[in-house]
Amino acid sequence: MRPESRRIPARTTEALLMLSAILFAKPTFAMGNELARVADTHALLKSPTPVAVKKGVVLHGLDAKMHTAIHKAGRIWMRHGKVLVVTSGLDGRHKKGSLHYAGLAVDLRSRYFAPSICKKVTHELQRSLGGEFQVIREKHHIHVEYDP
Ligand SMILES: [Zn+2]
Repeated sequence: MRPESRRIPARTTEALLMLSAILFAKPTFAMGNELARVADTHALLKSPTPVAVKKGVVLHGLDAKMHTAIHKAGRIWMRHGKVLVVTSGLDGRHKKGSLHYAGLAVDLRSRYFAPSICKKVTHELQRSLGGEFQVIREKHHIHVEYDP
C-alpha cells in the first residue's frame, strides 16, 4: 500500500480541512500558530473562517442570526490577526432577562487586542452586522446581541 493511500482518521481530516480553510482565507504563518494554540484548549467550529469556542461554552440553542454574526466576527478578528474565540453563549451567569438565555447574545474574546484595536474591531463588527445588532465593548470581552 502506498503511504498516501492510507486512510486518514476523521479527526485528522477535519484538522486538515480547517488548515486548508485558513490557507485559502489568508495564508499567514502567524494565523496557523495562533490556531494551533487555540485548538489545544478550545473546540473549533466548522466554518470557512477559523472560529474557536472556549471550553464549557454552550452554543446549542443559539439563534441562527447569532451564528451568522459569529462568522462575520471571525473574519474581522482574522483581519486583525487573531482567531475569534467565543467565550460565552447560553452558558454562564448573565443579568436577569439577558438575551444570552434566549440564544440571542454571545461574548467574544477581546483581551488579545490593544485598546485602540479593540475599539476598531467593535466598530467594524457593528458596521458589518447593522442596526439590528448591538455590539458592546465590555471590560473583558465584546458582547453582541440581536435586539432589533
Ligand atoms: Zn454578554
